[in-house]
Amino acid sequence: ILKLTEYVTVSDLANMMNIPVNEVIATCMSIDMMVSINMRLDAETIKLVAEEFGFETEFVSSDVVAAIQESTEEDSEEDLLDRAPIVTVMGHVDHGKTSLLDNIRKTNVIAGEAGGITQHIGSYSVKLPSGRHITFLDTPGHEAFTAMRARGAKATDIAIIIIASDDKVMPQTVEAINHATAAGVPMVFAFNKIDVAGADPNKIREQLASMNYLVEDWGGKYQCQEISAKKGIGVNELLEKVLLEADILELKANPKRRASGLIIESSLDKGRGYVSNILVQNGTLRVGDVILAGKYYGRVKAMTNERNQALKEAGPSIPATILGFNGPPSAGDTFNVLETEHEARDIANKRTQLEREQGLRTQKMLTLDDIGRRI
Ligand code: GDP
Ligand code: MG
Repeated sequence: ILKLTEYVTVSDLANMMNIPVNEVIATCMSIDMMVSINMRLDAETIKLVAEEFGFETEFVSSDVVAAIQESTEEDSEEDLLDRAPIVTVMGHVDHGKTSLLDNIRKTNVIAGEAGGITQHIGSYSVKLPSGRHITFLDTPGHEAFTAMRARGAKATDIAIIIIASDDKVMPQTVEAINHATAAGVPMVFAFNKIDVAGADPNKIREQLASMNYLVEDWGGKYQCQEISAKKGIGVNELLEKVLLEADILELKANPKRRASGLIIESSLDKGRGYVSNILVQNGTLRVGDVILAGKYYGRVKAMTNERNQALKEAGPSIPATILGFNGPPSAGDTFNVLETEHEARDIANKRTQLEREQGLRTQKMLTLDDIGRRI
């Protein structure tokens, strides 16, 4: 059996089967395919040619090459430690997302630790009075879910769905609920703006019940909390409920692994090069590590936290800003630490090549389609 990725060229295939490359080319010609040595073959052709020489084939997605290498070592039970939950706030525009995140940032970070948050890096970690941590993913909620889900990555452990109780459940509220439900992410409801005259959180409870989301204080399974993001009422209670939810999930990670996680955003800084905000999901990322995300790779040259303090390492659920990629990986890409720069470059180049070929193929198809239409 040949184990293949989608990046096999004619000469790769010949090597794997230990057959002269000319014979492979000849076989391709016999099925009306003109190929050259360095041409990449599609899965169908590889299968046909391999069968011709008596081999069975099995395809392994090369996008998971890094993940495969990583997962060969099983975590031992004692290496799995609790990690902070990663939380996203989602809700209709003007219902108070920004106010809530601002309030949490101010009361729990600036008060608790020196410096306060000085940089917006799309994610930050807060320490609650109980001593426990929560990591907030501070990107527009929907983008975080859709972009990352499209790549098969799960960005969030828990979603806070914020609803203004002087308003009602709105289309974007429903959308947020649907996103979280589809992603299998538990929700905690925050009924905001209870300080406003005429606010009626029971009306929100009722609307949610009519959508089959029955909250806990009405006998259902969803936790909820009345809050005023503006005045800071109920916010700590809300966060404690988030932690209860986290306890149920038993979130663990292995800090001893090579790091993997998410790209939150990337940009080009004139002086410093490519800057990426990342969130470590598993393992520990260290300065000097070889990193790969999408088509880009490099070595972590420097790492800072949201208070612009230099970090030597970042463990599970820790957000950081890093320098060192040779380009800007996209938001929602996953990153991996690899053993060698050579290996990282190899995978990055193959991804670039694949993207280019896919681009070419799409163009070609369009042209054929065009011709068809003209005929
Ligand atoms: P976002 O669009 O969801 O990020 O909502 P914002 O946080 O920007 O809030 C929209 C408006 O509602 C702003 O004018 C806030 O000052 C106001 N607001 C948010 N939370 C509260 C609250 O708890 N009480 C009151 N009275 N106003 C609030
Ligand atoms: Mg906002």
